[in-house]
Amino acid sequence: MAVIVQKYGGSSLADAERVRGVAQRIAASRGADTGVVVVCSAMGDSTDDLLALSRSVAKAPVEREVDLLLSTGEIVSCALVAMALNDMDCPAVSLTGLQAGIQTESLHGKARISEVAPDRIRTELDAGRVAVVCGFQGVTEEQEVTTLGRGGSDTTAVALAAALGAERCEIYTDVEGIFTADPRIVPDARKLDEIDYEEMLELAASGAKMQPRSIELGELYNIPILVASTFSEAPGTLIHREAGMEVRSKVRGVASDTNVAKVTVLGVPDRPGIAAAFFEPLAVAGVSVDTIVQNTSVDNLTDLSFTVARTDVEKTLPLVRPVAQEIGARGVTHDEALAKVSVVGTGMQNSPGYASTMFRALAAAGVNIEMITTSEIRITCIVSDEQSAEAVRALHRAFELDLP
Ligand code: ASP
Ligand code: MG
Repeated sequence: MAVIVQKYGGSSLADAERVRGVAQRIAASRGADTGVVVVCSAMGDSTDDLLALSRSVAKAPVEREVDLLLSTGEIVSCALVAMALNDMDCPAVSLTGLQAGIQTESLHGKARISEVAPDRIRTELDAGRVAVVCGFQGVTEEQEVTTLGRGGSDTTAVALAAALGAERCEIYTDVEGIFTADPRIVPDARKLDEIDYEEMLELAASGAKMQPRSIELGELYNIPILVASTFSEAPGTLIHREAGMEVRSKVRGVASDTNVAKVTVLGVPDRPGIAAAFFEPLAVAGVSVDTIVQNTSVDNLTDLSFTVARTDVEKTLPLVRPVAQEIGARGVTHDEALAKVSVVGTGMQNSPGYASTMFRALAAAGVNIEMITTSEIRITCIVSDEQSAEAVRALHRAFELDLP
């Protein structure tokens, strides 16, 4: 039997009316020889509400209990969807992570899936029922309930698609797919028909947000993922391998991120081991460092700059300052009002023209570039936060992304 996996996000299930709407969609997609597996997130903001509730009874809620509490959010939505389906004469059964065979490692709050044993799901499909599976939750070998990290239902859905050999995984959300830029910044941003996994990882902030782990899993198991709106029949964006051979020569989209801060260590002695001395403590503390630039040294002294998430600055400075002092650096400065803008596209590999177009467009818009980095599929400039929206619009125009 062919299997499709559909995932519905929290906003698609925010109230009773939406739950019934989702049930109608599911019932309509069920064919005589297609089994449907549905993965649901918790209704609306209920995961946030449950987290707030946990903090109202304990200063530092025990992680094991937080996971059990959060898992109830998805149990509520799945039971309701299954009820609504049965009410429409579409046989359905809801299943917890345990019943669905989602096994995870023992790490509360951000467990990774270690194995999927979908026997029960198959039994339900064979009996002609829709299996409605709780996203975001699993169990350890000791049968302790775990959760997969925020947005984890996406990962549940792709993992199930892989384990069941599904043709594809459909992610239904409140936007129509992935766009050439964030439509709130660029009004004429276009929805993309298709995109490959790597590009999706870079552009995830432009439109539908998905847990990055789900995209990595999709790539690993070669599962095509359709991202589309629950509320319309628009065709959505297909994430798959080898997307768009015919548009290989084009930039796919512009990504931006305003959660960026830069830390600079001035007058660093240029000798082996210095970079390691700064970045090891950050790695241990779980601070992820993004762009790193070290200037050419003059008189054996250099400046070392790097970016971190703005939300990590408070953690970063106390780790960097003592090292700077120890090695006799001249000082540490930081700038929290920065943003990252990137042009993304697999087709840019080895084509120097893209960088110059980018820099020319930013210059014409009066945007100063603080730092530059590149990867195989992306050119990123660090610019001031204030100018980032203008920078995104300028790049969107320069690469003609508004044109089909
Ligand atoms: N309900 C969880 C969250 O809000 C998981 C999910 O929505 O995918 O993060
Ligand atoms: Mg949610």
